[in-house]
Amino acid sequence: MPPTEAGGEIEWKPLLDGFVHEHRIAYFSMEIALRNEIPTYAGGLGVLAGDTLRAAVDLGLPLVAVSLVSRAGYFRQGLDAEGRQTEAPDPWSPERWAHPLGAKIALEIEGRSVWVGAWLYVLQGRLKGAQPVVLLDTDLEENRPEDRLITHYLYGGDEAYRLKQEIVLGIGGVRMLQALGFNIREYHMNEGHSALLAVELLKVFAYRREEVRAGESPYDVPRVREVCNFTTHTPVAAGQDQFPYALVSRLMDGTADIGMMRRLAGDENLNMTRLALSLSEYVNGVAKRHAELSNHLFPGYTVHAVTNGGHPYTWTCPEFARLYNRYVPGWCHEPELLTRADVSIGDDEIWQAHEGAKQRLIDQVRTLGSTVLDPALPIIGFARRMTAYKRPDLLFSSLERLRALARKRPFQLVIAGKAHPRDDGGKALIERIHGHMRELAGAVTIAFLPNYDMEKARLMVAGVDIWLNTPQRPLEASGTSGMKAAFNGVPHLSVLDGWWIEGCIEGVTGWAIGGAEESQNGADAQSLYAKLDDVVLPMYYDDRASWIRVMKGAICKNASFFNSHRMMRRYVSEAYSR
Ligand SMILES: *Cc1c(COP(=O)(O)O)cnc(C)c1O
Repeated sequence: MPPTEAGGEIEWKPLLDGFVHEHRIAYFSMEIALRNEIPTYAGGLGVLAGDTLRAAVDLGLPLVAVSLVSRAGYFRQGLDAEGRQTEAPDPWSPERWAHPLGAKIALEIEGRSVWVGAWLYVLQGRLKGAQPVVLLDTDLEENRPEDRLITHYLYGGDEAYRLKQEIVLGIGGVRMLQALGFNIREYHMNEGHSALLAVELLKVFAYRREEVRAGESPYDVPRVREVCNFTTHTPVAAGQDQFPYALVSRLMDGTADIGMMRRLAGDENLNMTRLALSLSEYVNGVAKRHAELSNHLFPGYTVHAVTNGGHPYTWTCPEFARLYNRYVPGWCHEPELLTRADVSIGDDEIWQAHEGAKQRLIDQVRTLGSTVLDPALPIIGFARRMTAYKRPDLLFSSLERLRALARKRPFQLVIAGKAHPRDDGGKALIERIHGHMRELAGAVTIAFLPNYDMEKARLMVAGVDIWLNTPQRPLEASGTSGMKAAFNGVPHLSVLDGWWIEGCIEGVTGWAIGGAEESQNGADAQSLYAKLDDVVLPMYYDDRASWIRVMKGAICKNASFFNSHRMMRRYVSEAYSR
């Protein structure tokens, strides 16, 4: 029976046999956006992990992904009229989409055995191929009630809960791959959450007792480093996962050598980033600027740069996919072909495709919240995690200025984004934006779509006219939604941070807000208003030919480069095949 995307009880051994015969790269990530119906992702990190797997299938690169089953999902966002966020569990049924695997492994956490089972999700390539995804699950009868919940809530619970999850992901993941018979040639840690996998490998590769001379370490650190790769996504020290050793000892005594971890991961706290850095031969940041920052942040380590990319087929709307299929066939697997899109595709066809995508967004916005948008007016889109450094309120710095802009040349806004349940600042931002929406009623039409997810992202990045990003420099490691917009010919208007430092050619692929210096809210807001007033809105209204040239610039210069296929080829040539 060929592997299918439908789940359910089937004879799992033959299905697995199709995957284990080949040497694979094990890709570990706390979150992976496998598909919209499986809400086991919180945002950019998970979407990138999903795009990584989707590109690997297209390229025939054998990976096996490891993550937690996260049965309760991240959360479903509700918003009341004041913009107060409510959080409901967003459960999914692994039975529906994945195959239960018969294997179980045991771990020791807090001095007791915790059993870990697994599900196999088969990620199908669009044309050919498939990639195995192993989802770890502690919801087993053998476990105590509290341990059954370890793999339930993505990023849920307290510090102890988080560390338990990371023990299951890292240590449990290595043991599960072994139990299933996978042949792993290398490991890739997507962010530090899975760094304990390298601690387990130290044990796997440890010298036998009779080989170790008195006073010498039994651990073969170089051997582990040789098979480990680490991608950091965190440009600030405060954002790194850290656990006090008192907690580490309580949960991990008996599972790992705490003294050895102190030497590798910092003496004060178990710093998961340091642990991953110490045990990985290849380390990279997710854009050039981010790699530079990381090299300063982690002296003594070399952090390479592999700039992120979006998966072409996933993020291109049907209207543009039809155009590309006709004029640049093969673009899905060789997105470089899009460099030719400007000469092959007529301006009218580009504009018509965009109008189709815009109308679908307008219809959906009306269905979801009864806001009526006008297809004749430009739509500015902003959607991402609602948190302070992303500055979703920068556009609202001066409502007076915004009203004046809209009087001169009307525009509309579509906004979306979740705040992490414990990010009170992020939640306050959502409320503040709703306050601004009320104050601007009658002057600017604004829709805030609740529960941002992959499907809404697909609609928005294609259906708006301008994709806005206003992070506080230099905190945006990469950012990816602007790349998704590029596949749909939507120009990016953004602060010069993350990938946009590489992607921005002023007036050709989009526009920059501010310069290259540290962000100042006031100056950035002034720059944003001036850019809209002097350049972006006048071009939209008065010079359609130039506007379409920028749309084509986004496709030819950015979609052709900032895609997951280029990213994966870089991992293959720089990281995996050392
Ligand atoms: C792409 C995406 C993100 C990340 O967007 P950024 O611009 O990198 O912040 C977050 N959530 C969803 C659902 C996405 O599709």
